[in-house]
Amino acid sequence: MARLYPVERYRNIGIIAHIDAGKTTTTERILFYTGVSHKVGEVHEGNTIMDWMEQERERGITITSAATTCFWIRTRDKGDKAKEYRINIIDTPGHIDFTAEVQRSLRVLDGAVVVFDGVAGVEPQSETVWRQADKFGVPRVCFVNKIDRTGASFEKALNSIWTKLTPNAVAVQIPIGEEDAFSGLIDLLTMKSYSFEGDFGHDIVEKEIPAELMESAKTWRGKMIERIAAEDETLLAQFVEGKEISEEDLRKVLRKAVLRGVLVPVFFGSSLKNKGVQLVLDGVIDYLPSPTDLPPVDGIDPKTGNTITRSPLDSEPYSSLAFKIASDPYVGTLTFFRVYSGTLEKGSYVLNATTGETERISRIFRIHANDREEVDALYAGDIAATVGLKSTSTGHTLCDPQAPILLEQISFPEPVISIRIEPKTKADQEKLGLALKRLSEEDPTFKVKSDLETGDTLMAGMGELHLEILVDRMKREFGVEANVGRPQVAYKETIKKPADAEGKYIRQSGGRGQYGHVVLHVEPRERGQGFEFVNKIRGGAIPQEFIPPIEKGVKEALDKGVLAGYPVVDVQATLNDGSYHDVDSSEFAFKVAASMALQEAARRGGLVLLEPIMTLEVLIPPDFLGDVIGDISSKRGQIEQSEDRGTMKVIDAKVPLSEMFGYSTSLRSLTEGRGTFTMEFEKYEEVPANIAQEIIEGRRR
Ligand code: GDP
Repeated sequence: MARLYPVERYRNIGIIAHIDAGKTTTTERILFYTGVSHKVGEVHEGNTIMDWMEQERERGITITSAATTCFWIRTRDKGDKAKEYRINIIDTPGHIDFTAEVQRSLRVLDGAVVVFDGVAGVEPQSETVWRQADKFGVPRVCFVNKIDRTGASFEKALNSIWTKLTPNAVAVQIPIGEEDAFSGLIDLLTMKSYSFEGDFGHDIVEKEIPAELMESAKTWRGKMIERIAAEDETLLAQFVEGKEISEEDLRKVLRKAVLRGVLVPVFFGSSLKNKGVQLVLDGVIDYLPSPTDLPPVDGIDPKTGNTITRSPLDSEPYSSLAFKIASDPYVGTLTFFRVYSGTLEKGSYVLNATTGETERISRIFRIHANDREEVDALYAGDIAATVGLKSTSTGHTLCDPQAPILLEQISFPEPVISIRIEPKTKADQEKLGLALKRLSEEDPTFKVKSDLETGDTLMAGMGELHLEILVDRMKREFGVEANVGRPQVAYKETIKKPADAEGKYIRQSGGRGQYGHVVLHVEPRERGQGFEFVNKIRGGAIPQEFIPPIEKGVKEALDKGVLAGYPVVDVQATLNDGSYHDVDSSEFAFKVAASMALQEAARRGGLVLLEPIMTLEVLIPPDFLGDVIGDISSKRGQIEQSEDRGTMKVIDAKVPLSEMFGYSTSLRSLTEGRGTFTMEFEKYEEVPANIAQEIIEGRRR
C-alpha cells in the first residue's frame, strides 16, 4: 500500500460564509467541477453533466457531509494527472449560534475560502468568523460571489473587506462587467481574460483582455504587484527599478505571504451563473497550505505530561483527532477524523488517548460528492471517517498505542440555556430518547439533562436558535412530536467565602442502625475551575472504604443545588474529620451525612446565583443608535463601545442572557428591520441580589 498523492498535494480547507452569501451553491459547483474533471472521459455530453447535478440534488447528501474529498488539476495545467491535487472540504456551519462548531472545524482545516455577497460585502457574521480564523491562524482566500446581482460592485465589496476585515486583501482578478453585464474575469497575474462556456460553465475559454478594459486591468495589476513585491526584497528591488516581475515569482511570493497570514488574495465571480469557481479552486492550490506548510502539531505525552510534537510524515507514529460524529442512514454512526501523522491500516487498533480505551478501526471511508469509498489505509494529512467506535467523541485523540499522544483538546463551552421537552404520546417517548441520544452525540454543545425535581427532560444548548434548530431536526429527521417549554437560563450557584459544617446521619433505635459523621470545609475556587475534593483524614477517623461514598454525597448535593436547585460550581470541599461506628456505619450513612454537611457548609459560605453573560455586537444605521443603546441599558447591558463602520454603527456590549430572549424580534422593531446582531457566551457572573431573590422565589413556587 502506498499513498497516491504526496502530502504536498493535499489541501484541507473549509468554506466559510455569512448565511446566504452562497456557500451551498459554491460548494455544489466545486463538487461538480471537481467530480467531472476527475472523471473526465466518462462525461461526453451535456446531459450527463445535467444528470449528475440532478442526482446530486435528489440525494442532497454530501454537500453537508462533515468532510468531502475531491480532486483538482489547475486550469493552467490542462488535465496533467501528475499535477492532480486532493482537496478535502471540511464543512463549517453557517450560523453564529454554533461558534463551537465553527471552532472545531477551524481546528482541523489548514486553510479557508471565505465567501462574500457581492452586493452586501462584509456582513457582521463574516467578521466574527474572520476573527476566529485569525485566532486559529488560518490562511485564507476571499471569494466575492454574486457579482451578477443587481447592485453588485467589486470595488465596494473590496473596500468593505479592507475597512472591516483587513487592509491586506489584494485583488488578483477583476470582473468583466457587473450585474447583468457580468461575463467573465481578468486574471491580473496572467493578464488574460476568461469566460465560462458550455453547460455549467464547464469550458474555460482564455482570451486577450478586451481593449476597453486594458487600462483598468493595468491599474489593478499595478496595485497587486506593489502589495506582493513589498513582501520580498528581491521583488521589491525589481519593482522599484521598474523591471517586469515574472508570473511565477509573483505567485511564489504571494503564496508565502498568504501562508504567513500577511496577504489575502481576492477572487470574484458568480457561483449561480457558473462563473469563476474553477479559478478559485486554482487559487486554493496556488495559495492555501498543504499540511507540510504548517508547523508540527503539539500534544502531551500522557505518561510524562511533557509536550511532544508530530510532523505530517507517514514515518511518524500515528496520531489523529476525531472532529465530528454524524449519523448516516446506511452505515450508522460515522466518526470523522483527521490524521496528523503516520499511517493507519484498516483492521488495526488505536488508542483513544483521551479515554485510555482501545478502539478497532474496522473500516475506513472517504466521502466523495457522489459516493462513499472504502479504503485500506490512511496517511498523514488525510481526512476520513470510520464506523463502530465505542468510546470516541468529538475532540478525542486516536493514536498509535505504542506512541501515545494527547492532542490539544477542542474545548466546548457548557450550555447556557435549556428548554423542557415533553413527548406527545407514548410512541413519541421512545423516538424522543433515540433522537436526543443521536443529536447529542453529534453536537458536543448540546446536552440532555433531567430536572431532578420534576423528572422532566431538558434540552440544553448555546442559544435560542441552536435549540430551535435541534427541535426542528427532531421533528423532521426522527418524526418526534413533542411539546416544548419556554427557554430557561442555565443559572449556577456558588459560595462567596470559606465555611465549615458538620453532618451527622445517626439512627440507632432498634434493629440495625445507621451511623455517618462528616466534618467538611468548603471554600470558593476561581470562576471556571470546577469542583475539587480533598481528603485530609489521617489516622483512621473514618475508614478508607467510606471516603468514596462521602465524595459522592458531596457531588450529588452540589449537582442538586442548595439555594435554588441550580448546580453549585467552583468549590473546593475538604474532608477534615468525622467518626464511625463499628456496626452501624455504612456507605449510605456516610453519603447522606456528607450531603448534609455540604449543604450546611455551602449555606454558611454565602451562596449566590451566577448567570451567563453574553458579548453582544449590534450593527445598525446611525439613526437608531440612541434607541438601541437605551434598550440595551434597560436590559442590564453594559455598553463597551460604539463606533462607525462604513455608513453603519457598531455597538459592543455585555448583557445577561436572561434579558435577551426574543432580541431578534425587538431589534427588528426598533430599527425598522435594518439592525442585525451576533451574540456569544462569555462568562458567568453574580446575579444582582434583588433579581436573584425573584429567581429563587420563582423556583420555590
Ligand atoms: P448559503 O446560505 O451561503 O449556503 O447560500 P446559498 O448557496 O444557499 O445561496 C443563497 C441564495 O443566493 C440562493 O437563493 C442562491 O440561489 C443565491 N445565489 C448563490 N450564488 C449566487 C450568485 O452567484 N448570484 C446570484 N444572483 N445568486 C446567488
